[in-house]
Amino acid sequence: MKTNRTFTMIKPDAVENGHIGAILEKITAAGFRIVSLKMTQLTVADAEAFYAVHSERPFYGELCEFMSSGPIVSAILEKENAVEDFRTLIGSTNPAEAAEGTLRKLFAESLSKNAVHGSDSDENAEIESNFHFAGREQF
Ligand code: ATP
Ligand code: MG
Repeated sequence: MKTNRTFTMIKPDAVENGHIGAILEKITAAGFRIVSLKMTQLTVADAEAFYAVHSERPFYGELCEFMSSGPIVSAILEKENAVEDFRTLIGSTNPAEAAEGTLRKLFAESLSKNAVHGSDSDENAEIESNFHFAGREQF
């Protein structure tokens, strides 16, 4: 398992609001190397599979509807301690509670439209990376 990698998505709200460039700039300035990168759009079924861990949660339908509502930018990122450091960079799930300077504080609209995804473990980083990118797309 590659413990120095994490997976991220710039969510439909941040793409729609024109924040792709600013978010990628913050990510690389924080020391992450881009391993993989693409713009794509999830189907509802893709989003349901990706967020299957949340299938019993009351917000699952809303979450999958939103995540498939428009294009996203997905990426694999590399840095020592990548998962934890990227979670620190993006900030709390609810942007109202996110620290100053974090990506969600800067770019998120709301709890459901919170701009950026970040993997929550090394194991999930690998699963999520391979869900979005073929081996030949990982550099
Ligand atoms: P992500 O997995 O997208 O990085 P997270 O790990 O901070 O976010 P999770 O608990 O995994 O948060 O929830 C996944 C996503 O579901 C959140 O990013 C948020 O958009 C949405 N979500 C979480 N809790 C709620 C809620 N109570 N109401 C509405 N949407 C929610
Ligand atoms: Mg999560």
